[in-house]
Amino acid sequence: MKTLAAALAATAALSGAAQEKPFAIAIHGGSGTITRTTLTPEREAAFRAVLGEALEAGRRVLAAGGASLDAVVAAVRVMEDSPLFNAGRGAVFTNEGTNEMDASIMDGRARRAGAVAGVTTVKNPIEAARAVMEKSRHVLLAGRGADQFAKEQGLEIVEPAYCRTEERWKQLERARERDRMPMDHDAPKKSGALEVDEKFGTVGAVALDQAGNLAAATSTGGLTNKRFGRVGDSPIVGAGTWAENESVAVSATGTGEMFMRGVAAHDIAALVKYKGLAPQKAADEVLEKVRAIGGRGGVVVLDRSGEAVFSFTTEGMYRGFAGATARPEIHIFR
Ligand code: ASP
Repeated sequence: MKTLAAALAATAALSGAAQEKPFAIAIHGGSGTITRTTLTPEREAAFRAVLGEALEAGRRVLAAGGASLDAVVAAVRVMEDSPLFNAGRGAVFTNEGTNEMDASIMDGRARRAGAVAGVTTVKNPIEAARAVMEKSRHVLLAGRGADQFAKEQGLEIVEPAYCRTEERWKQLERARERDRMPMDHDAPKKSGALEVDEKFGTVGAVALDQAGNLAAATSTGGLTNKRFGRVGDSPIVGAGTWAENESVAVSATGTGEMFMRGVAAHDIAALVKYKGLAPQKAADEVLEKVRAIGGRGGVVVLDRSGEAVFSFTTEGMYRGFAGATARPEIHIFR
């Protein structure tokens, strides 16, 4: 008969084994013209601090045996709450001077997905996307209906002015002057006769939990000076976000129109699943396809072994990775 000590030892061995299960989280905070000369040391430190906090929020969930869905939401929330990133509080302005936010989430277990587009009063659009997935019969809710649904679900609602940061307003004024639609992290620069101001500050996270489930989440304010009502790739499942346990989890950032036309996130997963490509090769190939139709940006891809890869066609990308054993890493430049 088993003694109590033996039973306890067996339990300890089991929990020890559970701790050895791989888990991982990778995040991005957008890509663009991010170089050592365009980013002051103070700003770099500020970005690193928020990225580190987001990574840690997600890692903590996973280390405690939590679900990848909870981890990606925890990480994205931190970046949505920071004015530095183009999502939630730091969302950029439309041509009408409004903030219209898009977000999506996907559960790798059974291709469940939820998304919101053009929300204006939800503090954390990623939570609204999750509520659509878990509490509605739909995948994508847009505009007034999405805001109202979030409110009915008891999510935190804010005045539209919550997103009005001075820096974003100036970005809009610059973009209006030049009649351009830049990505969030692009520094102004001269390009022939055109002045280009291009940055993508969208945020995203992909995670693998100890149960072996993948999840992906993406949240954005879109492109500065976008036409009001415009929806980008971030809330489009298969374009800006994808997660499927049989292949990979993906979150993208970049010129949304081209990522939609390239069905970028799903295309990466398909190359891994059907063609057996390594995630890095699949990501590079799809970004080349996006580039060929005039798009630029980046992706983070995580596979079931907990290995993350980043690929981007811009000068830099805010990004980070943490795993069960690896020390958390944050990178910005190429
Ligand atoms: N992909 C986003 C959009 O087009 C922009 C971004 O990544 O910053 O809405």
